[in-house]
Amino acid sequence: MTTISLNALRKEYGDQVAIPNLNIDIRDGEFFTLLGPSGCGKTTLLRMIAGFNSIESGTISFDDVVVNDRSPSARNIGMVFQNYALFPQMSAAKNVAFGLQTRSVDKPERAQRVNEALAAVHMDHLKDRLPGALSGGQQQRVALARALVIRPAVLLMDEPLSNLDAKLRVEMRDAIREAQRTSEITTVYVTHDQEEAMAVSDRIAVMNLGVVQQVGSPAEIYRNPANTFVAQFIGKTNLLTRNILIQNGASMIDFGDGVSKDVTSAINAGAKGEVRISVRPEAVRIAEGGLSAEIIDETFLGSHSQVRARLASGETVEFLEFSHRSSGRDRGEKVSLALDFSMLTLFDAETGESIMRGAIT
Ligand code: ATP
Repeated sequence: MTTISLNALRKEYGDQVAIPNLNIDIRDGEFFTLLGPSGCGKTTLLRMIAGFNSIESGTISFDDVVVNDRSPSARNIGMVFQNYALFPQMSAAKNVAFGLQTRSVDKPERAQRVNEALAAVHMDHLKDRLPGALSGGQQQRVALARALVIRPAVLLMDEPLSNLDAKLRVEMRDAIREAQRTSEITTVYVTHDQEEAMAVSDRIAVMNLGVVQQVGSPAEIYRNPANTFVAQFIGKTNLLTRNILIQNGASMIDFGDGVSKDVTSAINAGAKGEVRISVRPEAVRIAEGGLSAEIIDETFLGSHSQVRARLASGETVEFLEFSHRSSGRDRGEKVSLALDFSMLTLFDAETGESIMRGAIT
């Protein structure tokens, strides 16, 4: 069991600063995900934790012991990459046994641990197959068993599912989650796929341009995004622009069409001026007394449809309609859109930072 502490970390590539100053504390046994768009520094950070990248300043500690100067092999880490990196001439079992051999684990224990690790990823029945005779998902299971079998202090995974097709990705992310829960190994996982991050993680660090935007559980990040970047990166959202109007000492938002809402108790004292309002698709439904809108189009997705409508303000709002409740909408159809105010998040329009201190009631 291991905690990981990243303290004032800085990484430069030549004169380009990839990570200016990063602080994260990862808990014992936690499944922690680094999530962000391409080039935000996720892989760079993971390689720093592994010991493959130099560090310009700051410290990385495992259980409060600084490991900056430890070689990768002295850090006791297991790694899983997107290209499975199995030895092609060795069977699944031999691939898994390799790390135990180099650690001089004796033969009977080796055999037992290999069997256990392969069973943990449901690959014991294929242990004599060569990697070439295994599917991508099966190869990734072997790679996971190989990382787990050495009982590392820390498990690091860099986009392990990105070479798999959509269905296998879902299956494998469940397998990874299950293996991590059982082993309780502190895990740092890198992905650019927000849905995958939400499905597997205890906590997520959302990164942009080498800077951590927010750390929290999937639900915290989804419900209370710290800024407009996080609101847009995690899940889908509609961003409306409105003004805070002060009326009789109360902070009001005028949504248009006679719909206004008192947000005084939900926002920081003194917050004023222009705001961006994150409206999740599930916070919108067709109902009387809402904002008037005109249907732009509808995409049928089986269980539900994704509908886009244009408000009188010209803003586009996307929302969902379950198929069993609606038989479809016509382009140009006039509708009234009711908002669930308790699900909205307000951001300062200039800084993009959340101004919320509680939910709108
Ligand atoms: P992706 O999802 O595309 O892998 P990432 O979030 O993992 O992206 P990194 O690979 O960590 O991002 O890259 C972060 C920044 O550092 C990028 O601007 C990238 O161009 C730069 N970078 C990464 N590796 C090097 C290198 N070896 N030399 C110079 N710049 C690099």
